[in-house]
Amino acid sequence: MSTSTDARADGQARAPHIADSHEMIRVHGARVNNLQGVDIEIPKRRLTVFTGVSGSGKSSLVFDTIAAESQRLINETYSAFLQGFMPSPARPEVDVLDGLTTVISVDQQRMGADPRSTVGTVTDANAMLRILFSRLGKPHAGPPGAFAFNVPSVSAAGAITVGNGKKEKVTFHKVGGMCPGCEGRGTVSDLDPAQLYDDTKSVNEGAFTIPGYTGGGWNSRLYAESGFFDPDKPIREFTERELRDLLHREPTRMKIAGINMTYEGLVPRIRKSMLAKDKEAMQSHVRAFVERAVTFTPCPECDGTRLAAHARSATIGEVSIADACRMEIRDLADWVRNVQEPSVSPLLTALRQTLDSFVEIGLGYLSLDRPAGTLSGGEAQRVKMIRHLGSSLTDVTYVFDEPTAGLHPHDIRRMNELLLRLRDKGNTVLVVEHKPEVIEIADHVVDLGPGAGTGGGTVCFEGPVDALRGSDTVTGRHLDDRAALKGAVREPDGVLEIRGAQANNLRDVDVDLPLGVLTVITGVAGSGKSSLVHGSIPEELGVVSVDQSPIRGSRRSNPATYTGLLDPIRKAFAKANGVKPALFSANSEGACPTCNGAGVIYTDLAMMAGVASTCEDCEGRRFDAAVLEYHLGGRDIAEVLAMPVAEALAFFAEREARTPAAHKILERLADVGLGYLTLGQPLTTLSGGERQRLKLATHMADKGGVYVLDEPTTGLHLADVEQLLGLLDRLVDSGKSVIVIEHHQAVMAHADWIVDLGPGAGHDGGRVVFEGTPADLIAARSTVTGEHLAAYVGE
Ligand code: ADP
Ligand code: ADP
Ligand code: ZN
Ligand code: ZN
Repeated sequence: MSTSTDARADGQARAPHIADSHEMIRVHGARVNNLQGVDIEIPKRRLTVFTGVSGSGKSSLVFDTIAAESQRLINETYSAFLQGFMPSPARPEVDVLDGLTTVISVDQQRMGADPRSTVGTVTDANAMLRILFSRLGKPHAGPPGAFAFNVPSVSAAGAITVGNGKKEKVTFHKVGGMCPGCEGRGTVSDLDPAQLYDDTKSVNEGAFTIPGYTGGGWNSRLYAESGFFDPDKPIREFTERELRDLLHREPTRMKIAGINMTYEGLVPRIRKSMLAKDKEAMQSHVRAFVERAVTFTPCPECDGTRLAAHARSATIGEVSIADACRMEIRDLADWVRNVQEPSVSPLLTALRQTLDSFVEIGLGYLSLDRPAGTLSGGEAQRVKMIRHLGSSLTDVTYVFDEPTAGLHPHDIRRMNELLLRLRDKGNTVLVVEHKPEVIEIADHVVDLGPGAGTGGGTVCFEGPVDALRGSDTVTGRHLDDRAALKGAVREPDGVLEIRGAQANNLRDVDVDLPLGVLTVITGVAGSGKSSLVHGSIPEELGVVSVDQSPIRGSRRSNPATYTGLLDPIRKAFAKANGVKPALFSANSEGACPTCNGAGVIYTDLAMMAGVASTCEDCEGRRFDAAVLEYHLGGRDIAEVLAMPVAEALAFFAEREARTPAAHKILERLADVGLGYLTLGQPLTTLSGGERQRLKLATHMADKGGVYVLDEPTTGLHLADVEQLLGLLDRLVDSGKSVIVIEHHQAVMAHADWIVDLGPGAGHDGGRVVFEGTPADLIAARSTVTGEHLAAYVGE
């Protein structure tokens, strides 16, 4: 066996091919997305970091080639019968891929929207607590299932035949822990009557404000002619009885205009017709109504704990399972340490280890009852990591996508230790990352580039970090970048007063956010930055929130449709060819009839991800063949949509295809660093950082005065951060107020004003620990952020 894979041990870069091939993952001729026949060997059981500007091809190599092929090979090991039910993705475009081990992707996909999934249920922590309480809880409440909020209690009556042939009546009971009041959701939904009608008006005057209940249609006639109240009386003058009939009356048969109809109160009727539906599938005005009208309150029966009474009554010491799930995990870990009971000592050990991993990974401020769907992308990734830290599997390949997203420089060290621990257990760890602090700990670095899109897709460097530094790659040159403080900061032209902010962990925060400047909100993960920014700024100020959340819409949306760019393009095509603009939309008349303009045929399978295969008719071009006969500046519409932004920018500036309206939108896209993105790339394939920059480009021209951005450096290479700073400056200089949640020191150093939250996370945070200029923050050095910023700028 060769030891040359440990390049750092002898201090020099060895060509990895010297090592035995079974010590390497070998990729040969990878051509997925923009990869230009990449050949590479990655040392096993080492930590390899993939670097390169955004769009250079890091994800295409790590996720779309290596991880995708491993998953495909695993699927192939299942029986033909099972495979028939599974998605069968095409083999990635690559000549050779060997030495693969099982790949586990620890990505930033937010966790499912299942309202019953919590931090405790997605890790094993809740399962262990249930066993603990079923064994030690007093009074005894039953088996572990009796403590499970997702298991309902059921009773059934039946009969069994006994020995002498007689039948005997029996009843079966299964005791679950689900609160019957809220079915384990912890909240109950209600409709806000104020959103259903204007109570100063009568039904005949058009009091209803529910979509579909206005303008004298059947819905409003049913109520007006029901006879339960006077349709000409303003609703605020209704008697209690009349109001109850309007809102809650049970289904009642009646004849209206000679037609048999069923009357029902507004609340149950809307519940059935609107709330039971999938929100994503609603028309936008109906969805907006539902979001306005539905209020959620903690379930009064279980006090929001999701648990039935018997499950809450059993305690260990003074603590019930509901109390345990409500505690911050680090406090729970302390409590578990004090439970002494030899009969369950292996269980206690396992539970302690799991809880300690939360603390180590910097998530000790979470509680087990936190709905998984409310975690940020970075938090979700770290929670997933906990499942693997406890795992005794070895020789697995773990792939991470920017594991430091959402982490303060203070938290990054701990994350690094965990990555190294996974490696030292005998696993191969592949990390896509931009932060120098992480690149620093790599055994091996693979730098992709040099540029993005068609300007990237090649390996510019492979070897140890020291050699990367000496290499003349973009990454090497920027590795030791240090931003300097600005000579002068801007003066605010007003303040945004936040008073008594209490969302989540905030402790009655009073703070003035300056207007007309660049303000950066800092603090360790969980200190309360998002709670302050997203929960406390009054809506009326015209706040434009630019975050990384998924964009509503579908597989059919792309940058061209999302930014409105497609409109001027369609018009230009229509004008040049003397036909209708609608022909040039793959979502309308111009669509390929076989795939309806999707470019792919989807097969949706219950319980599994759908499978997409390229449409054979249009070969993925999405348009009807006849439409592709029309040209603009020598290109058809499918060719234009296949252009990256940078190329389209030149195209729409040229004489024949000159389209100033399109050009303007394209400029904004290039401005936010998305020059490499193709106009027709489905939005579902964009990363969180790309989505945020796309939203920013779309909203840049908005009238709104206050821009709120959540970690805009996510996904940005060191070299791109400078461009981002320029962009933020231009926003401020055009009269906008920009508020940014950021951990990147270059952005902090560039701020006009810093608000630092802390000092810790969860109940140890939630206060403003510093407000002032970056220079003052460094001079005071009174907070963790101050320390890190001082070290960064070299003071
Ligand atoms: P990185 O991870 O380095 O930011 P990616 O691998 O995501 O880069 O992207 C490399 C190139 O491939 C970019 O030009 C990007 O627009 C393109 N690309 C990525 N995913 C897809 C996809 N699903 N379909 C089409 N093009 C894609
Ligand atoms: P930061 O943005 O600084 O990372 P957050 O504002 O997300 O911090 O979190 C601050 C505190 O509020 C943490 O203890 C976190 O667990 C809690 N918290 C945040 N969002 C929610 C939520 N949706 N439900 C319950 N607690 C939350
Ligand atoms: Zn309940
Ligand atoms: Zn088609």
